[in-house]
Amino acid sequence: MHVVLFDIDGTLVRTGGAGKAAMEEALRSVFGLREVKDGVPYAGRTDRAIARDLLALHGIYPQEENIRRLQEAYLHLLPEMLRQRGGTVCPAVPEVLQQLSATPGVLLGLLTGNIRQGAQRKLQHFGLWDYFAGGGFGDDHEDRDDVARAALQNLGVTAGAAHGSTRNIWVVGDTPLDIRSARAIGAQAVAVATGWHSLEALAYHNPDWLFPDLNHARPLLTIWCQESYAIESDRDNFNHLRRAGPCLEHHSGN
Ligand SMILES: [Mg+2]
Repeated sequence: MHVVLFDIDGTLVRTGGAGKAAMEEALRSVFGLREVKDGVPYAGRTDRAIARDLLALHGIYPQEENIRRLQEAYLHLLPEMLRQRGGTVCPAVPEVLQQLSATPGVLLGLLTGNIRQGAQRKLQHFGLWDYFAGGGFGDDHEDRDDVARAALQNLGVTAGAAHGSTRNIWVVGDTPLDIRSARAIGAQAVAVATGWHSLEALAYHNPDWLFPDLNHARPLLTIWCQESYAIESDRDNFNHLRRAGPCLEHHSGN
């Protein structure tokens, strides 16, 4: 079995800044701010950590009630912002998801800093939500590594379920924080340069695999799909399967 966990922003879709715009508009409408200051990083972080930092930056005590009010307004505003900003699905994402979801033995999940309902709104906007069995979201944790552990728990995945090895668990993301969260659960880190970070910047963090975008990820599809078919048809032979050989896209700097 292969478990493939996808990040959302910059990996599956680009929302044209709809998430940030909705969060800032929520801050203005709930707390009566005239001006929203810049200075809180968004990329790769959990919504919970972003909300807390935004409140603190504007002198609002980041207590649970204030975070809840901010997130409620954010969720309310998000669909309209998504419509306004347009946004795009990242290259080859629909094709890859379609192929993986049709492959027995591949489990698709999310590993995202978005709160669950925010993730749902974003992916529904682009018609991608139904591909995923579940995952880890930014509702309960501030640290993305904790979200990664929660994703496995939510999907009912243990190292044993992945044929005794967490090497069959994969995290696909566009930031160094995605690579770090893959490390936190012993998964293979697949980095794609479709978000804010360049190939060079991502290479610095030693992902196991590195691609400009998912169009270039054919070697992984071969591993995910062919092995999974083989496992389904003959589980006993799993250990004798040959892994795909090294290829240009495989980043061996680790
Ligand atoms: Mg991202």
